[in-house]
Amino acid sequence: MNICDRCKNPTNITKMSWFNTDDLCCDCQKQEEVHPDFAFAKEVENEAVLNGNTNFPGVGWPGVRGRVKRWPTKPSTSSKGGVPTTSPRLPPTSLPGTWA
Ligand SMILES: [Zn+2]
Repeated sequence: MNICDRCKNPTNITKMSWFNTDDLCCDCQKQEEVHPDFAFAKEVENEAVLNGNTNFPGVGWPGVRGRVKRWPTKPSTSSKGGVPTTSPRLPPTSLPGTWA
């Protein structure tokens, strides 16, 4: 018997959350799947894995009615720490023309 990390209810089967590292019961999994940021969370997770970051902690579970914070350019230095750094620091590709 396991305990769901999110709702703390006992459950037989748990599955890792797409949003963070919580082990979720069926109900909480369903709750995630209908979340407006579910696709985004999966996308970011998959991208992290593609970048070799298999320990990606997830975008963070914002709550059923919350929204995931986007970090389009720079991850803001939050007080919580552990902000995922997904942006690969690639050198500027040599574009044709005048790229200084
Ligand atoms: Zn649960």
